[in-house]
Amino acid sequence: MGRRKKIVQECERLMDKPENIRNIAIAAHVDHGKTTLSDNLLAGAGMISEDTAGHQLAMDTEEDEQERGITIDAANVSMTHEYDEKNHLINLIDTPGHVDFGGDVTRAMRAVDGALVVVDAVEGAMPQTETVLRQALREGVKPALFINKVDRLISELQEGPQEMQQRLMAVIRDVNELIRGMTEEMDDVGDWRVSVEEGTVAFGSALYKWGVSMPSMQETGMDFGDIIELERADEREELHERTPLSDVVLDMVCEHFPNPIDAQPRRIPRIWRGDAESELAEQMRLVDDEGEVVLMVTDISMDPHAGEIATGRVFSGTIEKGQELYVSGTAGKNRVQSVGIFMGGEREEVEHVPAGNIAAVTGLRDAIAGSTVSSVEMTPFESIEHISEPVITKS
Ligand code: GDP
Repeated sequence: MGRRKKIVQECERLMDKPENIRNIAIAAHVDHGKTTLSDNLLAGAGMISEDTAGHQLAMDTEEDEQERGITIDAANVSMTHEYDEKNHLINLIDTPGHVDFGGDVTRAMRAVDGALVVVDAVEGAMPQTETVLRQALREGVKPALFINKVDRLISELQEGPQEMQQRLMAVIRDVNELIRGMTEEMDDVGDWRVSVEEGTVAFGSALYKWGVSMPSMQETGMDFGDIIELERADEREELHERTPLSDVVLDMVCEHFPNPIDAQPRRIPRIWRGDAESELAEQMRLVDDEGEVVLMVTDISMDPHAGEIATGRVFSGTIEKGQELYVSGTAGKNRVQSVGIFMGGEREEVEHVPAGNIAAVTGLRDAIAGSTVSSVEMTPFESIEHISEPVITKS
């Protein structure tokens, strides 16, 4: 059996275990390293070869899509990662890093429960960092922070350990100030500020594929002093081998981002204003795979063979081929022709996709991004609010 086939099978097995699922987005100000990091995670999870990571940019299907004559969309990919002796299914939704795609970023946030915010160590938090954080928090999506391009502080700016620490702490302070301000009025979340000690902050270099966090330092025994030494000596390969970025970040994702069972009871009241006492509300809160089918479409893309593909989060029930589903705002029902998951840029058909997962569905011809698709007529999800971007001048 091919490697890819094995990964698909493992993803299918894990889809039925919501406690082992993490639905996440990576969000960042343009050029802070979102694409490079995404590729790194894919390579680390064995989805693309280590050599092509950083060159191939698997998440960047723009060229491909331009060839097909369609617009750029958020890409989706699933990968597996072993943490705490359990394999996890990580569904990663790519958010477009470009200012023009603010609407897509917000839509992607509806499908996920955790947002990894990437900030360039040299530039610090920028206007779009604020925008993506706001988009995540409004949707009830929990943040964690990755401070990228730390190699530049060491090799280019020649900073010593103290200077570096001060700079990194300033970035964390700025991000936490934003989080604090944005969550002040939210009574459904606890303290979501990120913290080095708690392990919700990681540092590293997406380009050179190394990373550290407090838990990783405890595990590997590598501290900032060792890192500075190896980076200065140009021993980046050794750094990557001793403290690989993908492991550090994916461990953080598994440990600190909520699984759908933890996230949905909090997220459903925030994104759905139907009857909270109803059985349907209970099914969605409990991620009930035997309940009514409820899918929130976050993206429509075009496949030359399969036609229109509706991608979205299954909040309840199990979506399968042949089901006749209502599409909010339209009359009549649509018949599901196929269901699948994304692997890299490609869609893999699977038998069924249960609650808590991201599904790629064909046959929903009336659906648009933002549609609620369900097996019973229901109050649709709240419309996805577009948060406009501040004007950014790229240096
Ligand atoms: P995105 O716009 O956020 O997706 O950013 P990209 O991943 O495309 O990265 C933007 C630029 O920063 C590219 O030239 C990358 O090679 C570079 N870059 C990304 N990560 C790092 C890093 O850790 N260190 C350094 N020095 N450059 C990086």
